[in-house]
Amino acid sequence: MNIEEYRHVYVIVEQREGILHPVSLQLLGKGREIADTTASKLIAVLVGENVSGLTKELIYHGADIVYVGESALLKHYLTENYLQAIYPVLRDHKPNIVLVGATSIGRDLAPRLAAKLNTGLTADCTRLSVTPEGSLYMTRPAFGGNLMATIICPDHRPQMSTVRPGVMHVMPRDEKRQGVVVNIPLSFDQSRLKVSVIDVKKEKVNKTKIEDAKVLVSAGRGIPKEKLESLETLAQELKGSVSASRAVVDAGLLDASRQVGQTGKTVRPDVYFALGISGAIQHVAGMEESKLIIAVNKDKTAPIFGVADLGFVGDATKLVPAIIDEIRRQKGQ
Ligand SMILES: Cc1cc2nc3c(=O)[nH]c(=O)nc-3n(C[C@H](O)[C@H](O)[C@H](O)COP(=O)(O)OP(=O)(O)OC[C@H]3O[C@@H](n4cnc5c(N)ncnc54)[C@H](O)[C@@H]3O)c2cc1C
Repeated sequence: MNIEEYRHVYVIVEQREGILHPVSLQLLGKGREIADTTASKLIAVLVGENVSGLTKELIYHGADIVYVGESALLKHYLTENYLQAIYPVLRDHKPNIVLVGATSIGRDLAPRLAAKLNTGLTADCTRLSVTPEGSLYMTRPAFGGNLMATIICPDHRPQMSTVRPGVMHVMPRDEKRQGVVVNIPLSFDQSRLKVSVIDVKKEKVNKTKIEDAKVLVSAGRGIPKEKLESLETLAQELKGSVSASRAVVDAGLLDASRQVGQTGKTVRPDVYFALGISGAIQHVAGMEESKLIIAVNKDKTAPIFGVADLGFVGDATKLVPAIIDEIRRQKGQ
C-alpha cells in the first residue's frame, strides 16, 4: 500500500427520512478542521432516497465536495444496500481519513466498510487530532473507561473512526460557502440484497431527548427513589429534562435513554445539575462539556467537584425543594 496516494477527509453522512442526523454536521465541523490542518479537501458522502436537497446544507457546514447517491433501495438503512452504495466511492477515491457517526447505523456500517477496505477502525472516539502530514490520533475510553487510549493506524489507509454524537462542534452555518455536488453512479448486486423493510413502526417518545435539553437535572445513587419526583419538578421549572447516572438506570428507576456517560449519552447542556452523583470517570466522560456544571454532594471529596463550576457540599434531597421554592418565588408564583 502506498500511503501517499491516499488523500482527503471523508465524512459518511447519516440521514433518516431525509433529516440529517446532528452527528453528521458535528463530523463535518471536525472534518473541516482536519482538512485545513492537512491542506486537503473535506468530502461528504450522502446516500438515501430523495436526499439531494440536503447537499447544500452539507456544503454550508464545511464540505467542499458532496458525493450523493439516490435510489429507492436506499430509502431505509439496510447494511448490504448502504455498503454497496458507499464502499465503491471509498475504494475508488482512496481517502486518507473516513469519519462515521457512532450511532446504531454508523456502528453497523463502519466495521463492514473497514473490513472491505482492509483497514482498521477505532470505534467510539471522543477526541481526534491530526498532524499536518495527515496521521490521525484517535482517542477513546479504554479498560472500562479508566484510561483514555490514543490509537493510530500507521500502516493502512484509510484511517477510520466512529465518533460519538455530541462530542464534536458544528461549525457555524455559512450560506456563502461554495462546493461541488457529484452524483455517484450506483449499481447494486441484487443477488446479495436479502433484506427488505416491510413496515416501520415508530416508538412514541413523549419526553425531550436528553441530548437536546438545555437544562439537565441529573440524579445519582444519592437520590432515593421517592425523591426523584422533586427532580422532575425542578426540571419542569427550568424547562429541562431529568437524566441520570448508570447507578440509577441499573436500579431500574429511570429508562436507559436517560443515562449520561460512556455507555449512555454524551450531553452538552447549558446547565447540568449533578445531584448525588460521585463523578466516576465513565459518568464525567458524558457531561464534562456542559457549559455550567452545578454539583451537590454530601461528600466534599467527591470527584464530581473536580469538574463542577459550582459545588455545594450537602444533602441534595433537601436542597432541591429549596431551589424549587426559590424559583417559584422569583417567578411570583
Ligand atoms: C465499562 C463501564 C461503563 C460505565 N458507564 C457509565 C455511564 O455511562 N454512566 C455512568 O453514570 N456510570 C457508568 N459506569 C459506572 C460508574 O463507574 C459509576 O459506578 C457510576 O457512575 C456511579 O453512579 P453514582 O455517581 O450515581 O453512584 P455512586 O458512585 O454510588 O455515588 C453516589 C454519590 O451520592 C452522594 N450522596 C449520597 N447521598 C446524597 C445526598 N442525599 N445528597 C447529595 N449527595 C449524596 C455520595 O456521597 C456519592 O458521592 C460505568 C462503569 C463501567 C465499568
